[in-house]
Amino acid sequence: MLNSSVVKLSVFAVLTALAVNLFYPNLFRREPPVAITINATYDFIVVGGGAAGSTLAARLSENQDVTVLLLEAGPSDWGNPIFEIPALSMLALDSDVDWAYTTERQEGLFKGMKDERSVWPRGKVLGGSGNINAMVAVRGNQHDYDRWAEYTGDQTWNYRHVLSYFKKMEDMRVEGIRDSAYHGKDGPLTINWINSGPLAQKLVEAGQDLGFSNKDYNGKSMEGTGKENEEKDEEEEKRKQEEEKVDERNEKEEEIEEEEKQRVQEKEEVEKEKGEQEEEEEE
Ligand SMILES: Cc1cc2nc3c(=O)[nH]c(=O)nc-3n(C[C@H](O)[C@H](O)[C@H](O)COP(=O)(O)OP(=O)(O)OC[C@H]3O[C@@H](n4cnc5c(N)ncnc54)[C@H](O)[C@@H]3O)c2cc1C
Repeated sequence: MLNSSVVKLSVFAVLTALAVNLFYPNLFRREPPVAITINATYDFIVVGGGAAGSTLAARLSENQDVTVLLLEAGPSDWGNPIFEIPALSMLALDSDVDWAYTTERQEGLFKGMKDERSVWPRGKVLGGSGNINAMVAVRGNQHDYDRWAEYTGDQTWNYRHVLSYFKKMEDMRVEGIRDSAYHGKDGPLTINWINSGPLAQKLVEAGQDLGFSNKDYNGKSMEGTGKENEEKDEEEEKRKQEEEKVDERNEKEEEIEEEEKQRVQEKEEVEKEKGEQEEEEEE
C-alpha cells in the first residue's frame, strides 16, 4: 500500500517537473542582470534591444574597457514560454509586447481588414521582433542590398560585403549547405532544419509542380522552397532535366523529319513541273 503511493507520488513529481521544464524552462534559473542604477555617463548608449541593438551592445561590451548602456522600451523576455517556442509567437501579436503598428489605408488594398489597414507587428520586448518572429532563417534579398549600395553610394551595403557578416554570424548545421560559399560555421546563430509535417512536404511538391526548385534559398538565388530531403530533390531535379533533354531531342528529330518530308515533296513537285514542261515541248 505504502509502496504504491510512493510510486504514484514519484510519477506525479517527475511529470510535474517535466511539464514545468517544458513550459517554464527558466523558472529556476537566475535572470540575467538588468541595470537598476544608471551611470551618469556611458561610452556607448544603444537604443533598442532588438536583433541589431542587442548584437551591437554585446559586441561593444566584449571590450572590458568601455561602458555600454542598452535601452529597451519593452519588458524583459525572461521566463516567458511565448519567447521560447517559435510556434507560440502568434500569441505575442497584438499584445503588450507588440508595437502593433498598422499601415496607412491604400486604394484597393486590405479590403478584408479592420479599417482597411494591414497589421504590421514589431516586437516591443528585450530581443525585439526576433522574439515574436517564427525564427525562419531568411536573409534579405541580395538585389535589395546592391540597390541600397547604389542609392547611398556606399559599397559596404552591397551583398558581397554584407555576405561576410551573414557568414560570420552563422553556425550552419545543414549538411550539403554547411560548406557552401554562402554560409558560415563558426558564428553564434545556429541554423538547422525544423521538424515539419506532411503539409510542408505538399507545399514543396506544389512549388515543384510550378517549376520552383527546393534548395538553399539563402544561397545563389532566393526563388524556391527550402526543406529537408535535399538529396531526393536533387535527384528529382536531375530527372526533370534529363526528361527535358529527351523532350528537346525528340522535338529536334521531329523537326528534322518534317524538313526532310518537305524537301522530298518540293523535289517531287519540281520534277512533276519539269515533266509537264517536257511533255508540252514535245507536243
Ligand atoms: C511577426 C514577425 C515575424 C517575423 N518572422 C521572421 C522570420 O520567420 N524570419 C526572419 O528572418 N525574420 C522574421 N521577421 C523579421 C525579423 O524579426 C526582423 O527583421 C528583425 O527582428 C529586425 O531587427 P531589428 O533589430 O532591426 O528590429 P527589432 O528586432 O524590431 O528591434 C527594435 C527594438 O527597439 C525597441 N525600441 C523601439 N523604439 C525604442 C525606443 N524609443 N526606446 C527604446 N527601445 C526602443 C523595440 O521595442 C525593439 O525591441 C519577422 C518579424 C515579425 C514582426
